[in-house]
Amino acid sequence: MNMNELKKFDPEVYNAIVNEIKREQNKIVLIASENYASKAVLEAQGSVFTNKYAEGYPNRRYYGGCEYADVVESLAINRAKELFGAEHVNVQPHSGTQANMAVYFAMLKPGDKILGLSLNHGGHLSHGVQVNFSGMLYKTISYGVDRETGLIDYEEVRELAMRHRPKLILAGASAYSRIIEFRVLSDIAKEVNAYFLADIAHIAGLVATGNHPSPVPYADFVTTTTHKTLKGPRGGMIMCKAEYARAIDKMVFPGIQGGPLMHVIAAKAVAFKDALSPEFGRYQLQIIKNAKELADALMNKGIKIISGGTDTHLMLIDLTGKKITGSDAEKALDSAGITLNKNSIPYDKLPAAITSGIRIGTPIVTRRKMKEPEMVLIADLISRVLDNPEHSPAINRVREKIKALCKKFPVYEDMGI
Ligand code: PLP
Repeated sequence: MNMNELKKFDPEVYNAIVNEIKREQNKIVLIASENYASKAVLEAQGSVFTNKYAEGYPNRRYYGGCEYADVVESLAINRAKELFGAEHVNVQPHSGTQANMAVYFAMLKPGDKILGLSLNHGGHLSHGVQVNFSGMLYKTISYGVDRETGLIDYEEVRELAMRHRPKLILAGASAYSRIIEFRVLSDIAKEVNAYFLADIAHIAGLVATGNHPSPVPYADFVTTTTHKTLKGPRGGMIMCKAEYARAIDKMVFPGIQGGPLMHVIAAKAVAFKDALSPEFGRYQLQIIKNAKELADALMNKGIKIISGGTDTHLMLIDLTGKKITGSDAEKALDSAGITLNKNSIPYDKLPAAITSGIRIGTPIVTRRKMKEPEMVLIADLISRVLDNPEHSPAINRVREKIKALCKKFPVYEDMGI
């Protein structure tokens, strides 16, 4: 990417971008909710479409000059429909949280009950947590995972649904590593006459490629982000049954947003084209293979994984037997060149700012073409840091190994820096 103008005009921002590129190149990033977008996605997102107001929808705009905006938005919609088999798609939500907001605002009234996975058990803020608008406006009932197995307790979901009769039942998670039984949850929603919303933000890439069962046939609404396993630009999207199309479109615009971010929508279209390719299917499969290998290798080192493994791109490490907190582990690992995030584990006794766990995901290392042997090495390096978080020589040795690994699997090589 050519950044000559930026370098001249605003060296402070230029330098921050250069440092961010170097950080992404020189660390092993295991944040499960992140990915490295392709250069084609970055180019579309950095395009002149950032200039364009296009309130409304293709061929129904409130501004002139939208003919090319219509082209990219229609491409994004049609590709997403093909990718997920959805009846209706809205690609305008600025984020995953706004996608969920649009569904709630379109279908619920303040004070209505929603039933979703508890944040402490892997759910998301926008699924009814008190500090989020969703918890402020709606009465939240939460289901959790079983203390022993770490799996969603579907019987508990059914019992809670019967007892509380929520207006909407939510599936989807930020830190749950196992297959989610969308069909079972959809049946429960039908039993109590609730809407069923599946938030596939994390697993969208896996769903699109058949590597995780799709909720699209069962759910009234499916929301997602486009920047996680899907490897697109930062943003959101809503899919729904045709009968809800009008209500959803009206709620996104003019309900909760003004002009769509056309440069982001152009980049979404590019990401969906990529996601339709056979290569993307192989990428998603390798993400899961890598996650399974990493989980096995960590468990071989005596590290505990919630639910005993993973079916997806992520896993949750339980540090309670390790005498280190999630936040200290995050810091020690980052100083060794491994970036990930602390995360509450189910039934965690520590607060969210400290936690007893860390979350690990494989979308980025797989994007860098790493395979099973590299996962074994990364597990070994993680284990060394967790056992010696304050021992500088050990951390230094890990850092050297990480540097070598990053060099062997380069990324963003021709960024013009
Ligand atoms: N839903 C789930 C399950 C998520 O994990 C996330 C983000 O991590 C979101 C929604 C929200 O996405 P955003 O950060 O774009 O608002």
